[in-house]
Amino acid sequence: MFIPAYLAAHMFLDWISFIHAVSPINITPWNPPAGLMMGMSVLLGIRAVPLIWLALMAADLIVRDLPVALWTPLVANGVAAVGYGGAGGLLRRAIDPGLSRLRDIVLLLGGSAAAVLGIGLCFIALHTAAGLFEWRNFPEVLLRYWTGEVIGIAVLTPMVLIGRHMPALRRSWRGAAEALVWGALIGFTLWLDFGPLASSQYEHFYLLFLPAIGIAVRHGLGGAVLASVATQIGLIAAIQATGVDTARMAHFQLLMLTLAVTILPLGAVVSERRRAEDRLRMRQSDLAHASRLIEAGEMAAALAHELNQPLAAAMGYARAARKVARIEGASPRLTEILDKTVTQAERADRVIRSLRDFVRKGASDRTPLPVPTLIADCLTLAGPLASRHAVEIATEIDPALPPIDGNAVQLQQAILNLVRNAAEAMGDGATGAAPVQPTSDRRRIVLFAGAAPQPGFVAIGVRDSGPGLAEVVERNLFAPFVTTKPTGMGLGLSIVRTIVEGHGGSLTARSGTDGGTVFQFTIPVHTTDKDGEPA
Ligand code: ADP
Repeated sequence: MFIPAYLAAHMFLDWISFIHAVSPINITPWNPPAGLMMGMSVLLGIRAVPLIWLALMAADLIVRDLPVALWTPLVANGVAAVGYGGAGGLLRRAIDPGLSRLRDIVLLLGGSAAAVLGIGLCFIALHTAAGLFEWRNFPEVLLRYWTGEVIGIAVLTPMVLIGRHMPALRRSWRGAAEALVWGALIGFTLWLDFGPLASSQYEHFYLLFLPAIGIAVRHGLGGAVLASVATQIGLIAAIQATGVDTARMAHFQLLMLTLAVTILPLGAVVSERRRAEDRLRMRQSDLAHASRLIEAGEMAAALAHELNQPLAAAMGYARAARKVARIEGASPRLTEILDKTVTQAERADRVIRSLRDFVRKGASDRTPLPVPTLIADCLTLAGPLASRHAVEIATEIDPALPPIDGNAVQLQQAILNLVRNAAEAMGDGATGAAPVQPTSDRRRIVLFAGAAPQPGFVAIGVRDSGPGLAEVVERNLFAPFVTTKPTGMGLGLSIVRTIVEGHGGSLTARSGTDGGTVFQFTIPVHTTDKDGEPA
């Protein structure tokens, strides 16, 4: 089913584009079958060769009326099929067929352009040798062939490759209305270019860039692909309606090629950026979730600490009361109530302990983490925070650091807490110390990582140029619920300490050499695991 469908699609595209071929050479202003062939080659690799050859032969015999002996198309189409299949085979190793990144589009267009040049050299040489063209026309014919094929590829191959993931035309009234508006805009710009207002064809071609760029910016790569297909079809229709100026055909080809190679990378950049934003949003919400859990754990830990004494005392008294009741022969009802009191007090103790363990358990979910990756992730996540407080975050990372053994989300959380504190210390002075003058050179936070003095550990820290620690904080360093901020909970630093100690490291704070504060913690380096497997 697939083979006849492919052959039919190829012949249909050949037939609709076989209008006003330039001289006897079957070279059309755009060659959409080339887009289909390259698409198939990228999807199937070298396996596409027989199929492509069959389609080219069928098109030559059925759609076109070749004025040469059969051996010429047999050989020339063989060369073209092998060229396409080979190029597609190489490209599919280098790119993601979903064209998810800008480099995929650039490689596809660049690789195809180079491949078509090679194929064209052989293809046109064979036809020239067969007497179809004169050798003196070789460069011109080659250029026409190359441009037509590359336009076909630029317009259609991305459609073949990402057709399944096409975003636009969502089944909604708004989507349909938007598609209509864009279609009307393309039609209007074509009318300006070809209608009575234009003194010659393509005079106002630049106007066609406007809707195409608009669609690419709004809908990313999928939109760009649809826009270039729609523009190309509109152009062919307009040329048909107004009559072809053969002398200017090369000009038209180059304009269309320019449009396609402008908007496709633009669309790819827009799509790539959207995906990056989505990823960042997801990670920020993961982090916020983790942060809430850790805060809950820390709160529980603090409560456990505070409630431990009274709870233990209450439990002791209840047990003693039960004993006394038994010895003194109190009523069974009273003994039963005292039993229940002891059971409930023990249960409360267990609940609080298990909440506290929650944070520590997270730290046991560890993987080898490259420090530069951890810091880069933190920088991305701290972006909104830095701009909110108008601070700049610089990094100082020793490039030779080995990977550390850690839980990425928890360590990100720890570093972000320190960065947030530093930014707030420099920003609004809510630290109990004198606020810092917000001059630009003082609003700098340094996120650093290097070898720790203790062997087998890496030191990671945050240095700021804020006012330093308030006395009350210094006296109760890292204790929960100590804060100088009006809306602070005083849990940030104690969370950092819990996370760091859960990893087997330690957290310290000191004054910076030229003012400000330095918070630094250590994390063990990743070593061979328990089975002796290398890291
Ligand atoms: P919170 O931020 O909710 O107050 P933290 O435990 O994170 O809780 O911080 C406790 C206190 O430590 C803060 O209120 C602040 O006074 C002080 N502090 C933390 N980091 C810094 C810093 N980089 N510079 C000055 N003071 C700081």
